[in-house]
Amino acid sequence: MANQESSIRIKNLINGEWVEETGVEYVPLYNPSTGVQIGEVPLSKPETSLEAVESAYATYESWRNLSVNKRVSYLYDIRQAMIDKEEELAVAIAVDQAKHVSEARGEVQRVVQIIETACSIPTLVQGETLDHIAANINGRVIKSPLGVFCGVAPFNFPALVFGWFIPFAIGVGNTFVFKPSTQSPYFMQKMGDIFNDIGLPQGVINIIHGNRTVVQPWYDDLRVSGVCLVGSTPTAKKMAEACGRGGKRSMLLGGAKNFLVAMEDVQWDIFLENYLHSCYGSAGQRCLAGSIVAAVPEIHDELVERIMLASKNLKIGSALDPDVYMGPVISAQARQKIERYIEIGVEEGANLIMDGRNPNLPDEIKNGYYVGPTIFTDVTPDMTIYKEEIFGPVVSVVKVNCIDTALGLIRNQEFGNGACIFTQSLYYTEKFINQADVGMVGVNVGIPAPHPYLPFGGIKDSHLGTDKVQGKDGIDFFTQNKIATIRFAPPTGRFTDESGREIRDATASKGVRSCVAT
Ligand code: NAD
Repeated sequence: MANQESSIRIKNLINGEWVEETGVEYVPLYNPSTGVQIGEVPLSKPETSLEAVESAYATYESWRNLSVNKRVSYLYDIRQAMIDKEEELAVAIAVDQAKHVSEARGEVQRVVQIIETACSIPTLVQGETLDHIAANINGRVIKSPLGVFCGVAPFNFPALVFGWFIPFAIGVGNTFVFKPSTQSPYFMQKMGDIFNDIGLPQGVINIIHGNRTVVQPWYDDLRVSGVCLVGSTPTAKKMAEACGRGGKRSMLLGGAKNFLVAMEDVQWDIFLENYLHSCYGSAGQRCLAGSIVAAVPEIHDELVERIMLASKNLKIGSALDPDVYMGPVISAQARQKIERYIEIGVEEGANLIMDGRNPNLPDEIKNGYYVGPTIFTDVTPDMTIYKEEIFGPVVSVVKVNCIDTALGLIRNQEFGNGACIFTQSLYYTEKFINQADVGMVGVNVGIPAPHPYLPFGGIKDSHLGTDKVQGKDGIDFFTQNKIATIRFAPPTGRFTDESGREIRDATASKGVRSCVAT
């Protein structure tokens, strides 16, 4: 694998052509499992980004005028190609993003489900009508595409974020320019080949690689209708400001700090399985990662013992090793940042009961970027590790007196992505669903990623904008409600009143000047 991937040279996809960017810096692309460089990624020029916008803009008119059936038929073809190439796509994710290949397969399968949801666009995009607003006047609300949308992806979900944005955006008739993360661009290279193989009209989806320099020209460009991001909260806030100045519609999903709340009637087997998956899946690099475990006093000590036991047996190693549970983090810098958080936790007085720094690793992967499961107890809300998104396999356990204390902590968090409770009590369940101030709540499940038929997204600093991704929100963000008011006359020009009597000059007799007067 390493040899095969050793020469990945990432290209831009503009108007259906793979274009190698010249005269710019290329940044190295690493395999985080081994620390070996496997390719390079261009920091493309702003002018190249605008070429991608022009390609999407020039294609928009013909694409939106295709029948909705025809547009959706391309989504079916993309879906089928993803199913046929599931393993190749999963390995592409595992190679540069280092999500464990079994989770990477899950990510590809989830995108297939999202596309299946988007294939219902002929139903989902139906508008509304109100007949007989006035005599011979009907009203209609049409969910209409807007033009060119541009989207930016984070490193940790190179496939999912493609799925959140593009099938809905193009299915309703827009065209797209997509910027993957420079740390995990390889999946979209594979997807670009799929778009060409299935014969997607050139220019419908364009891919541009680089950093914020390729995003900046979008805000003031009249050809761009909207911008979307999944990324950290600081990036989301900067883009929100720029979109506001440029008058762009925006949907910006930010960072997170999610709670798992364990009550005295927790079912341990359910809790522990979900704890491991939530806290250590993708090495904690998920917006739905479990980061804070809140336990009531009755079970706090037992919980600590049980999570220690479960965590210490987790095998860490290469994202391509089938026996491994948890792969590396994305980069040497990310590992350093996580290790620094662990130091800060100790300095601020939290109790480090499991330290994931410098895990034991076989020689062939010793240069990879690994951090093992890490657990702090006696964490308090004033501590840095409690407040900030660590984005690694680091868990803070806090003791809470009761459900109200847990809900208070959730309410006072800057972030508001997800939270879940583990209980068998109907009272706790309903109270938690009603009062947890987050966008996505779970009961006896790890921080849940809602099914694609439903919207996905947080509140507070986890989400800027109104619409969320996927579900009906996915349709709303990528369409505008265009309202048509239609006055119609019989072919003879003869109007009748409600009893069927002819009105010789309807307009004159009623002095009608406005469609609202009857
Ligand atoms: P990041 O904010 O560093 O980068 C995200 C993307 O934005 C990258 O493509 C990057 O090149 C680009 N970018 C960075 N600065 C920019 C700027 N000023 N203008 C325009 N583009 C800019 O995030 P990351 O480290 O790649 O991803 C991890 C973050 O994403 C975490 O905070 C995580 O919680 C968040 N995330 C959130 C969700 C969600 O659903 N809320 C899902 C996945 C990831």
